[in-house]
Amino acid sequence: MEKIIVAIDGYSSCGKSTIAKALARYAGYTYVDTGAMYRAIGLYTLRKGLKDEAAILAALPQIEVGFRLVDGAQHVTLCGEDVEGQIRTLEVGNRASEISQIREVRAFLVAQQQKMGIEKGIVMDGRDIGTVVFPQAELKLFLTARPEVRAQRRFDELKEKGQSPVFEEVLKDVNDRDYRDTHRAESPLRQAEDAIVVDNSDMTPDQQMKVIYDYFDRFK
Ligand code: C5P
Repeated sequence: MEKIIVAIDGYSSCGKSTIAKALARYAGYTYVDTGAMYRAIGLYTLRKGLKDEAAILAALPQIEVGFRLVDGAQHVTLCGEDVEGQIRTLEVGNRASEISQIREVRAFLVAQQQKMGIEKGIVMDGRDIGTVVFPQAELKLFLTARPEVRAQRRFDELKEKGQSPVFEEVLKDVNDRDYRDTHRAESPLRQAEDAIVVDNSDMTPDQQMKVIYDYFDRFK
């Protein structure tokens, strides 16, 4: 079977990265979490106290985002530092969502993401993978789930990490981020015309993976 590009897009907290990781393992492909790249830049701007667009753009050439493997798990790096443990907070997620509205930030990361896909054999997840990064992707999946279901998942995740989330705040955050992601001027989150929609609100993880593996197996 020829290697293909799998583009996975969808709303926040609908299990994109879990699905993308599992599919990459199943296929023997490379997995790339583009949200982690936006989060790494978000973290950089928080650490340096960069707020306005001009300051962020001036800093962009100094920002190096990469990945490294740690015991088989992909960790994002920022200027060589492993920041995987610092990017999965509400604060960094919100900042990532803000800086992802800046056209030059998107162009900066999209160029790197396109390079990663040159040899195909890649599963990439994000918001604009099927529409902007790889419009030519052979398999495009668009994941969705009801906001309450996604908020509950994120709530559980944050608790597991030792944080003390408040459900209403997490739900508000999910709704705010959906709004920003779908209404921004630059590459808003939308379903590619040729994407397959998977609503996993009422699916068990096993059911969902079976559906996804079946779509992938059509390319065998
Ligand atoms: O997927 P994750 O929640 O980690 O992404 C963080 C934020 O980065 C998202 O809310 C979204 O605004 C932005 N993002 C994006 N384009 C991508 C991936 C993430 O704009 N391809």
